Amino acid sequence: MGRRILFIGPPGVGKGTQAKRLVDALGVPHVASGDMLREAVANDTELGREAVRYMEAGELVPDKLVIAMIERRLRKQDAYCGYVLDGFPRNVRQAEALTETLGDDAIDTVLVLEVTEEEIVERLLKRAAIEGRSDDDEPTIRHRLEIFRTETEPLIDYYTDKVQRVDGVGTIDQVFCRVVSGMIC
Ligand code: ADP
Repeated sequence: MGRRILFIGPPGVGKGTQAKRLVDALGVPHVASGDMLREAVANDTELGREAVRYMEAGELVPDKLVIAMIERRLRKQDAYCGYVLDGFPRNVRQAEALTETLGDDAIDTVLVLEVTEEEIVERLLKRAAIEGRSDDDEPTIRHRLEIFRTETEPLIDYYTDKVQRVDGVGTIDQVFCRVVSGMIC
């Protein structure tokens, strides 16, 4: 069983939560582009200063910056035996860059988490109230969903042979159970 996993799913689907559980179960690092970018912003690094305006508008950060950030991360020793990618690649150009650097086996399994758009908007508005994320107001959420459909969904075709669809509605435990069965199917 391969341990190079990619999660795909719209914002608010619970990718981060499921990715963390899978990381604990597999003992591989969680490589979450959104977390890494927020950390760069918080630390006021050059990357953070460049990325912040795109993030706040719900736009994708330019491919060049994100690709460099992730490639640097995946070269670290702890990623040698696998990783759970969460948020990257987010479009076909990023996926092609990853294939170019690490080859076809950069990803073994693609887990696609699915929930309805209405459920997502509701979940994200709730998260905005709790976490106070600046990219979580309703117009920005709708914009991020639109970007997901146009930019990220085509990845499902790009990785077609590796895709397992997972129903994202239910408790965290129920969904995790489906995630694990998606990996061994
Ligand atoms: P969510 O899962 O809620 O969509 P993330 O935490 O994954 O959010 O990402 C937050 C923001 O960080 C995105 O809206 C985008 O601006 C930026 N970002 C994260 N990953 C990428 C990526 N692979 N390419 C471009 N921008 C990214």
